[in-house]
Amino acid sequence: MGKNILILGGGYGGLLSALTARQHLGTDEASITLVNRFPTHQIITELHRLAAGNLSEKAVALPLEKMLRGKNIDLKIGSVQEISPDDHQVFLTDGTILTYDLLVIALGSETAYFGIPGLQEHSFILKSVEDANRLRDHVESCIRTYSKTHSKEYATIVVGGGGLTGIELIGEFADLMPQLCRQYGVNSQEISLLCVEAAPTILPGFPAELVERAQTSLAARGVEFVTGTPVTKMEQSTVELKNGRTIETKTMVWTGGVQGNSVVANSGIEVNRGRALVSEYLQSTSHQNVFLSGDSAVVFGPEGRPYPPTAQLAWQMGETVGYNLFAYVTGGVMEEFSPVFSGTLGSLGRKDAIGTIGENKTQLRGLPASLMKESSNIRYLSQINGLFSLAY
Ligand code: NAD
Repeated sequence: MGKNILILGGGYGGLLSALTARQHLGTDEASITLVNRFPTHQIITELHRLAAGNLSEKAVALPLEKMLRGKNIDLKIGSVQEISPDDHQVFLTDGTILTYDLLVIALGSETAYFGIPGLQEHSFILKSVEDANRLRDHVESCIRTYSKTHSKEYATIVVGGGGLTGIELIGEFADLMPQLCRQYGVNSQEISLLCVEAAPTILPGFPAELVERAQTSLAARGVEFVTGTPVTKMEQSTVELKNGRTIETKTMVWTGGVQGNSVVANSGIEVNRGRALVSEYLQSTSHQNVFLSGDSAVVFGPEGRPYPPTAQLAWQMGETVGYNLFAYVTGGVMEEFSPVFSGTLGSLGRKDAIGTIGENKTQLRGLPASLMKESSNIRYLSQINGLFSLAY
């Protein structure tokens, strides 16, 4: 009888693990079940565009049932509550208990609030299609309310965190505002778009020239940057900063960082700061029959520093895990994970972008960066499409 492979998470890491494994493994060798909390595979790298109404939901929420039909991968929609790796069991919130011979954990990451009081209760986040839809509806209702009340907190949008998530989002908001304001008869000059960043500059780690470019490009479209100033507290409609400034706002979007998934942190498999430790084959260091894909794991580079939790890494981990499931089941040789970094590209709204590509980190800005970013999205979609047609 074949092995029972259970894959938790239908994001980049989980979906690619499932498709790659099925590409190599016949149905007599293994059954594959994919569990996801949503019925869709979500292209979360594009959520900032959905949040600004610059993309339709169907472009970022791909129905898994349709994608997996006829591919010999079973789909179960449900949220994972607990993993019991010593008993080879997974508990879902609806009471279902799933068992496995081989497990892939690809549950992604969670928003890190760093214990900042009030933030989790009162801020918006951007981790799913639902979050993006909620944010888009909320921003529109704020502008509508502002058109009637002229209460400043409705016309103030704060993004906490100036990493790539925060910058891509505020760029979209900057481009959305003129049109949204026109629709409600509001002067767009009256809208405040603020990005608050704890580090001395936005986009920490990016080359200084690109940081400068991002700042200039966004400031020209009305974004105000408050750098070197952490958010320290939030109440219902008030954001407090370390320098004593308070901002009245109905819209605080928190993009201040991510952390490991708490289900993984509490599962009993070996973790480092909540993210699973893995071998060079992406196998859990504590449980041989558990593989990890995406942000749920931490992978260290040759200099001993963890790789950033990005979509391109999750995607590549998924391919390695998929192959290694096949090797494990058939007694073959597993492959070592060796990621290829093609670069980092960040949009600055609809018409501008920055990024670095290639090993020598060639800098791109403007149209070439926008085009490269678009082509990397297309590459991803064609990659999963290709795997669909290859799967057994
Ligand atoms: P991040 O951790 O990269 O950025 C969070 C930012 O919030 C940091 O700059 C940090 O200094 C700041 N911050 C933390 N605490 C704060 C506080 N109290 N007040 C104000 N600012 C605070 O998180 P992210 O932007 O969500 O990105 C997560 C990962 O995903 C990263 O590895 C990133 O590179 C990747 N990502 C990539 C893309 C892309 O390639 N286009 C887009 C989005 C995210």
